[in-house]
Amino acid sequence: AREWHLKARPNGWPVASDAELVEAPVRAPEPGELVVRNAYLSVDPYMRGRMNDVKSYVPPFQLDRPMDGGAVGYVVASAAEGFEVGDAVLHGQGWREYATLRAAHAVKVDGAKVPLSYYLGVLGMPGLTAYAGLLAVGALQPGETVFVSGAAGAVGSLVGQIAKLKGAGRVVGSAGSAAKVATLLDEYGFDAAFNYKDAPVAEQLAAAAPEGIDVYFDNVGGDHLEAAIGALKVRGRAVLCGAIAQYNETGAPVGPRNLALAIGKRLRLEGMLVNDHQGLQAEFTEEVAGWLADGRLGYRETVVEGVEHTMDAFVGLLRGENTGKMVVKLA
Ligand code: NDP
Repeated sequence: AREWHLKARPNGWPVASDAELVEAPVRAPEPGELVVRNAYLSVDPYMRGRMNDVKSYVPPFQLDRPMDGGAVGYVVASAAEGFEVGDAVLHGQGWREYATLRAAHAVKVDGAKVPLSYYLGVLGMPGLTAYAGLLAVGALQPGETVFVSGAAGAVGSLVGQIAKLKGAGRVVGSAGSAAKVATLLDEYGFDAAFNYKDAPVAEQLAAAAPEGIDVYFDNVGGDHLEAAIGALKVRGRAVLCGAIAQYNETGAPVGPRNLALAIGKRLRLEGMLVNDHQGLQAEFTEEVAGWLADGRLGYRETVVEGVEHTMDAFVGLLRGENTGKMVVKLA
């Protein structure tokens, strides 16, 4: 079976030679272990940080070792109680066709009502990020104005829609193409949206939210964060979730240069990690699965086919080739 190894640490944008698809034997399960045939692999922005050799909240990938990440698949051999061949599971050994892992590190999922890939997106880590970030960290109140960047992506598209479902007065999103902007307005019910490549973010945000914003959900950093600090009202909140604009930058990151505005406006800027919010998992699953079933929550995926295209899918994600969650479907 094939698995992806990191061969070199990218300098700036990852290139094809930074990773290699390697043939490796599938290890037989020891007691307490499963063998899983992966059906979908997740590619996520945080993986770019793991390609660097720096200490962070997740350890770096090792050179010449398989990379890992979210995946869903089917049990093909089980030496663990409670797991049968054919069970669908979510686990952390992505970037490969077959995984041998401890059953304690796998979670059974139900592929009957929703596609299995949803557990990598709307019903998985990105979904919980959006839900917890907006509601627990952002403390959204009914009637408030929300701005979210990366709004057509996995997390951002859910932030905007959950905001509306929870009674936000006005929801504004930014994304990187006219087609994405149209999706936000026509499918996801955003009140306003703009393409950040068309004109400075601060200008476009001021036009979209002339009275200012109460909550900013930041997936991008840089000029987006600076614009949001300018637009936040007194006692506004910024949820610092991601800074994708700088993940491939080799120079010094951009601003915000206007941070001192936070003083007079008594802003709260709070970083968040989804792993801190496992306590909301049950509530999140129930509420979001309900909205999905009712058709009140729109959800899109960009599906790249074939394990051999996983690196392309990953770089494509960083370049904005996805609308909604980027996943890789295996044969
Ligand atoms: P997305 O599905 O949003 O995909 C990434 C998107 O980022 C691309 O589609 C692209 O869309 C956009 N993008 C890329 N470069 C830039 C740029 N220079 N400026 C603005 N937008 C850019 O990914 P996710 O939903 O999985 O993740 C969104 C963010 O949330 C990331 O920053 C990620 O690191 C973060 N995150 C944080 C977590 C946490 O626990 N803190 C957990 C999960 C995600 P476009 O065409 O619009 O440019």
